[in-house]
Amino acid sequence: MPETDPYVVMVSEVMLQQTQAPRVAELLPIFLERFPSVQQLSTASNAAVIMAWKGLGYNNRALRLRDAARMVMEEFSGQIPSAMDDLRRLPGIGPYASAAISTFAFNTRTIVLDVNVRRVYSRLSSWQPDSAGIAADATLEPFAQSVLPKRNPSEWYHAVMDLGATICMARRTLCSGCPLQNHCPSSHLEHTPPPLRTSQRSEPMFRGEPRRLWRGRVVQALRSIDGRVRHDDLLTMVFGVLNQPEREVVAQVLTALETDGLITRDAGYVRLSD
Ligand code: SF4
Repeated sequence: MPETDPYVVMVSEVMLQQTQAPRVAELLPIFLERFPSVQQLSTASNAAVIMAWKGLGYNNRALRLRDAARMVMEEFSGQIPSAMDDLRRLPGIGPYASAAISTFAFNTRTIVLDVNVRRVYSRLSSWQPDSAGIAADATLEPFAQSVLPKRNPSEWYHAVMDLGATICMARRTLCSGCPLQNHCPSSHLEHTPPPLRTSQRSEPMFRGEPRRLWRGRVVQALRSIDGRVRHDDLLTMVFGVLNQPEREVVAQVLTALETDGLITRDAGYVRLSD
């Protein structure tokens, strides 16, 4: 299956939304073996697609991807659309993913601003005082349009993304080895100390870890059972002994998983949703 197959590009872009690239590279072929086409993915049950999403985290994405496949079958005759407006209508496909799919699957001249491209363009388009400086999109978009070549935009973005990953990195720049050094107003960054790290965005925690990790563990436990399990046995498997305040948090975690369509609770049992 070629890398530019629109279905492969769509699946990989959804995976890359919240999973590191090396992990995606490892797990994408396994997912594609299970669901080799948009048609096969479109018929998957919740439980089947969550099982196939093992190791990727943020399991809601798996359901939205399956829903996107259904819309492709129902509204686009099984062909993943190339236009950004059509791609944006697919569940789970936001502004960045639609631009990336349009570019990497169909080689359209689209503005694609991922974290690496945004950083490289910020430094190239204007002087940045330190490595934390990122220009506003209103500034970046005209610049991005002006440098985008008429031919092979997909290849262009691969090159810019590679530059951002290996030379023009977030906290370290290797300007003396950069092919753009003579054109870059920020080439002083190689000798500018990185700013101190600011505190991370806070997210709901449980027992010192983000709640999303506990959500993932519940789903993982149900994957390993591949069937239904008594509610209390599941809690013991995943959380061990719970005090009353912890039970209340865990109840919220399970309710959110159920609301998101990942699990089903019925008569004291829990299972992955059909
Ligand atoms: S010269 Fe330095 S700051 Fe400018 S693009 Fe190259 S690595 Fe980035």
